[in-house]
Amino acid sequence: MTVGAADANGGRPKAKSVIFINGDGMSAAHREAARLAMTGLDGRLAMDSLPYSGQLSTSPHDPKTAITDSAAAATAWATGHKTYNGAISVDVNKKPLATLGEQAKKAGKATGIVTTAQVTDASPAAWFSQTVDRGQQDDIARQYLEVSKPDVILGGGEDWWLPAGTPGAFPDKPAEDPTEASKGTKGDLIAQAKKSGYTYVTSASQLKAAKGGKLLGLFSNEEMFQQREEGKGDIYRPVVPLADMTSKALSTLKTDKDGFFLFVEEEGIDEFSHENNGEKVLKSMAELEKAVKVAKAYVASHPDTLLVITGDHDCGGATVEAAEDTADESGDGISKEDGPFAIANSPLKFTIDWTTSGHTGVNVPVTASGPYASSFTGEHANTYVHEVLSKILTK
Ligand SMILES: [Zn+2]
Repeated sequence: MTVGAADANGGRPKAKSVIFINGDGMSAAHREAARLAMTGLDGRLAMDSLPYSGQLSTSPHDPKTAITDSAAAATAWATGHKTYNGAISVDVNKKPLATLGEQAKKAGKATGIVTTAQVTDASPAAWFSQTVDRGQQDDIARQYLEVSKPDVILGGGEDWWLPAGTPGAFPDKPAEDPTEASKGTKGDLIAQAKKSGYTYVTSASQLKAAKGGKLLGLFSNEEMFQQREEGKGDIYRPVVPLADMTSKALSTLKTDKDGFFLFVEEEGIDEFSHENNGEKVLKSMAELEKAVKVAKAYVASHPDTLLVITGDHDCGGATVEAAEDTADESGDGISKEDGPFAIANSPLKFTIDWTTSGHTGVNVPVTASGPYASSFTGEHANTYVHEVLSKILTK
């Protein structure tokens, strides 16, 4: 690079793409528990090794509560506006707001969703749709196809793409959760997706074989796991790991010369924290960490890409405690202490003590690398994510 060219870019590579990773429900306690379990006392997670870090506050603008849900939190990221819980990129007066997912598309970039939740769940939905109620997942799917048109959509939630009575690739009322069944009210949206040019896949081998273009992969009826208490039907065994979905999305989206926006999410952290299921939270954290490694490897060879890793809010109010401290200071039933869990490379152990089966208001850590990553230093409201990402996604 000549000196002149470097000057034109302020000495930095031109910012083109964003990978935004959400550990749903993930706060500092989740990251520390995973660090101890996976890397030990002197170890460091890939997600914590990015060069810039800060904190985000998460409170919503909701007349009834000070603690956010995933819908209001993702709306803050995607639109820069605080709103009420349950809102998908509409303001407190239910007026639709411009979303970064749509704006990135208008700026010529490819866009994508990867999640172990329903692809139409609140966190991905806020980037690519607007509804007054997060429960309208079939309408969110319709908006993906007809309005925001993400190029890659990978995750769970087939039930919302098909009308009742049309089971699809994943049977209605399976043994592991008899409440799961197709329930869409917008027609056969999978047929509509295929007509619109999407390659549709439902298994790991089909995903691997899919080549280029627009890609829709639905790998479960609802979430790609079963969130339950320990030993009561809790399952984390997605048919495609989060890391593999992330890898496929990146290899597909990177072909756009204008860059891309990719939203990646591990939903199990939140759902199993609601169940105060420490073992499955650690499993979900391990799967998120693998996806982070895929993203880190990508940005290592693509310095034009901003990588951001955070959580939308805390879930569970967990603390990481010494295993020698056997008193269960808070709660009973599902909120009693989990563990002890082994610390990697150490004879010591830790426990996870829960205070709630709901969300809490503590700040979440944010780590970042690449263009504009230094902006995430310090403490900011979660709407600040929109301010930084806009610099890359809306020009
Ligand atoms: Zn939650």
